[in-house]
Amino acid sequence: MIKKNNEIKLDVLIVGAGFGGMYMLYKLRELGLKALIVETGEDVGGTWYWNRYPGARCDVESIEYSYSFSEELQQEWNWTSRYSTQSEILKYANHVADRFDLRKDIKFNQRVISSVFKEDLNKWYISTSSGEIYSAQYCIMATGTLSSVKEISFNGLDSYKGDWYVTGNWPHHKIDFTGKKVGIIGTGSSAVQAIPVIAEDAEHLTVFQRTANYSIPAKNRKLTEEEVKKVKSNYSFIRDEAKNARAGIASTVYGTKNVFDISDEERNREFQKKWDYGGTDFNSAFMDIGFDERANDAAANFVRSKIKEIVKDEETAELLSPKTTIACKRLCADTDYFETYNKSNVDLIDINKTPIESLTTNGLKTSKNQFSFDIIIFSTGFDAMTGALTSIDIIGKDGVSLAKKWKEGPRSYLGLCIEGFPNMFTITGPGSPSVLGNMMVAIEQHVEWIIDCIKHMNSNGKKEIEAELTAENEWMDLVEIIASSTLRDTCNSWYVGANVPGKKRVFMPYAGGYQTYREKCDEIAKTNYDGFKIS
Ligand code: NAP
Repeated sequence: MIKKNNEIKLDVLIVGAGFGGMYMLYKLRELGLKALIVETGEDVGGTWYWNRYPGARCDVESIEYSYSFSEELQQEWNWTSRYSTQSEILKYANHVADRFDLRKDIKFNQRVISSVFKEDLNKWYISTSSGEIYSAQYCIMATGTLSSVKEISFNGLDSYKGDWYVTGNWPHHKIDFTGKKVGIIGTGSSAVQAIPVIAEDAEHLTVFQRTANYSIPAKNRKLTEEEVKKVKSNYSFIRDEAKNARAGIASTVYGTKNVFDISDEERNREFQKKWDYGGTDFNSAFMDIGFDERANDAAANFVRSKIKEIVKDEETAELLSPKTTIACKRLCADTDYFETYNKSNVDLIDINKTPIESLTTNGLKTSKNQFSFDIIIFSTGFDAMTGALTSIDIIGKDGVSLAKKWKEGPRSYLGLCIEGFPNMFTITGPGSPSVLGNMMVAIEQHVEWIIDCIKHMNSNGKKEIEAELTAENEWMDLVEIIASSTLRDTCNSWYVGANVPGKKRVFMPYAGGYQTYREKCDEIAKTNYDGFKIS
């Protein structure tokens, strides 16, 4: 690196050392480019670095939630369970960083504050919290989709004297819940995983629920040596299947019938099969669950009936039974979530009926009761898909900021490039399938597409690539049309930004299937980057 007038010159600056950033760095090095990652954390891992709450696990099977780009890597690494723990995935991320010697090109403990495109110089100028200024031809945002924790904005937070933690930004030391009175706010995927584990140790756990969530038992288990061996000998087939699958997951078996094509008994058998198999592909039992309200209701009723079978107290079971469509929010995968409410040390509070008014010095107050807690946990989610990007002061052409451009919702061509922001790529950005499937497959596809694009630019002596406004508009129209043909937009999920006060309601990911999306991206690359201005 050449350090001149405080400016560190690079070919490519990558923001974020999660799985997206790490693979990007690896591939850029192969091209012989001078690339560097800037990362806020003190080590690699992204999501898996920050989300260390008790019970944190992946909801995609470990065998598939892993890189496919290196045969040696996939042969040498041994996953121990069907759904890996956060600590095992973080170990894997560290192993990758060591194996490919990535850390030497990663600056840790630095947050990117701003990224400004200088049109006259055709370069991005990136400033960090530690005062460094980098210049680069390309800026790649590998900032993650669920990485910007929602602001904790409860009244009286300052007055609360107990300990409090946020699932999405969990301390690095062990928190001992033994003998503690604990309150947890939120019942999304993170809380669904944390609640059963915390309830094991806490003297008492009170769960504050705003919206009940659908959850399917993960049926997690240890992988046997034979299974792992078989997978390893079959990996190329599994990876190919994943690349050609709707959600980037090879193991998902999609039903080929509609819910009401068959008898009640057959339908229940199918649902039961998915329930017993476990995990988040429950909705793929039938073709129309995500599209037809009546079909959706049948699937939802099946899960509600299971909740009522498991939870002994009728009132609690009713409260835990979701009222929304089942395909709307992302399904949770749990281990003993509903069972936990049968424990005598666990209570559930409906904060729709009795809202949280404020935190107090020793707990919190709802409209009905005072609660005293040693520990309060906020599991209230993320400013998903856009938060991490708009928290950086990104300034494109004509001095326009990304936050301003996205005020009415994110705009992007393919979730990869944004009009007005030349030579900037987003890995798994809004407008791409990203969170609707296996993130590892989505990441690899984006990284490889970006690499091919940079190769194309270099071999043709081109310096600047930018999405055309028409292409971007048409793409975002398509994203909206596809989403509105499904039931995905029928509730207040983070997919539509409804969990963040004031955020414009827009369905952000591309819901047309990962395989269709990949084909579209490939076709665009083949047709000399149709929809892009290249100069
Ligand atoms: P989330 O799904 O957004 O859940 C947040 C929870 O907090 C919801 O129950 C929400 O209620 C509640 N909440 C938010 N603000 C609140 C407020 N002001 N007062 C009271 N309650 C409030 O967030 P998450 O659980 O962290 O999960 C986010 C996503 O991360 C998941 O959907 C999943 O994609 C991913 N994730 C994956 C895994 C995994 O791989 N297993 C694990 C964890 C997370 P409302 O529903 O009413 O808004």
